Amino acid sequence: MASVLSFEDARHLVEQHAAFVRPRGKELAALLDAQNMILAEPVLADRNFPPFPRATRDGYAVRGADLAQIPATLQVVGEIRAGVAVDSTFMLQPGQAAAIMTGAPAPAGADAVVMIEYTSREGDQVTITRTMAAGENIVPVAAEAKRGDRLLFPGMRSDHAAIALAASVGRSRLLVYSKPRVAVLATGDELVDIDIPPEPAQIRNSNTYSIAAQIHAAGGEPVLLPIAPDRHRRLRELIADGLQADLLLLSGGVSMGKYDLVEEVLAKFKAEFFFTGVQIQPGRPAVFGRIPCGAGAPAHESRSHDDPAESHDESRIDQSALKGRGFSRADTPQKESRALAPEEYKYFFGLPGNPVSTMVTFELFARPMIEALAGMTPKNLIFVHAKLKSEIKTKPGLKRFLPAILSGEFEQAEVELVRWQGSGDIAATGTANCYIVIPPDRERIAPGEWVPILMK
Ligand code: AMP
Ligand code: MG
Repeated sequence: MASVLSFEDARHLVEQHAAFVRPRGKELAALLDAQNMILAEPVLADRNFPPFPRATRDGYAVRGADLAQIPATLQVVGEIRAGVAVDSTFMLQPGQAAAIMTGAPAPAGADAVVMIEYTSREGDQVTITRTMAAGENIVPVAAEAKRGDRLLFPGMRSDHAAIALAASVGRSRLLVYSKPRVAVLATGDELVDIDIPPEPAQIRNSNTYSIAAQIHAAGGEPVLLPIAPDRHRRLRELIADGLQADLLLLSGGVSMGKYDLVEEVLAKFKAEFFFTGVQIQPGRPAVFGRIPCGAGAPAHESRSHDDPAESHDESRIDQSALKGRGFSRADTPQKESRALAPEEYKYFFGLPGNPVSTMVTFELFARPMIEALAGMTPKNLIFVHAKLKSEIKTKPGLKRFLPAILSGEFEQAEVELVRWQGSGDIAATGTANCYIVIPPDRERIAPGEWVPILMK
């Protein structure tokens, strides 16, 4: 019934499913509103880049051949400022130089720009003390991009550099994918909302808020549901509400306790479970699965609008394909021969309730699914490395993602674990800015070793 995967297998399984999901739709967004959203169109160069041979230094535009013997004294015939076009009939003649500023168009006849540091000026004469190769300090027309070239691609996240590129081709609006709506459902009898004073044995619901913030960062739109108690009926109602969204994230209720009902209730929606545990710490009880549209999950509305031939009405769902699938482990989507297409499911993650586990399992598993629903081209998870500051001792068996502090300065980064009381220690995550990734076969890591880290 339960399947516990290695970290890598679990991550790959999510990635394989994520490769088949599609965003809800597209919309035009003002350039700055498009920040962090995913491009739904290519952005083309509207002119050559650069549009003119661009000087990259302040100095003198020259003919390189004039500098075969140095020092060479040339006659200054004019000054070219950035933003000012050179007369199209002008041509730099042998023995001549033109004062030029960074970003200004080099004149016809010039094939190099000498930096001002290698020159001395007297009246209209300039003496140059360095030879120049042809092309030095001039970027030729269209060397960076030709008119019509694709500068940005659909599926790219619109970060500050993408926004700069869009601005440079005159785009004040961008076609982006609509953000996926991601339902957040915290479960637990002990939970109270943040504006209610907790009784002595109660806990404030923080996971809804950490998850919502992580959804924002990943490019989704969080939809916050009320707290679900550990009771079948109410949990079922709230899961049904959550299935209206494009993705459902639950927190808590996935461990082995008597009142951990999440998997049981999801199974009533004919859920298919891809994993019900991962060999990691924190986050071991993490759950990933999907529910067929019609078994509680509505079809994706906008796509049925886009293409009526692909409408996901219940009549198309082959109920026989679902028989016996209630609680099984399924293989990768490619290997399946199901009657339902991948978009005819709603995916869900059951994240463990311990706050640090919730945060870590979101980053490791929920994030790639949200990014895919947001339209992003899949990318591999990569861990960067930093030097370990103080020794780590752990028990082998699980891959660990332990809260840590990356400090130092410039090239001297070093990292060390935060002291913590386990995955329920929300205070420890406040000071941490990353997680040290410890392979399952390591018991001791010595100071000075390079260790992989996952940034927070
Ligand atoms: P569970 O996964 O439901 O067994 O919960 C594990 C631990 O996480 C328990 O100590 C819970 O009180 C705590 N917890 C569960 N959900 C939340 C939440 N939404 N916010 C803060 N702590 C939580
Ligand atoms: Mg619980």
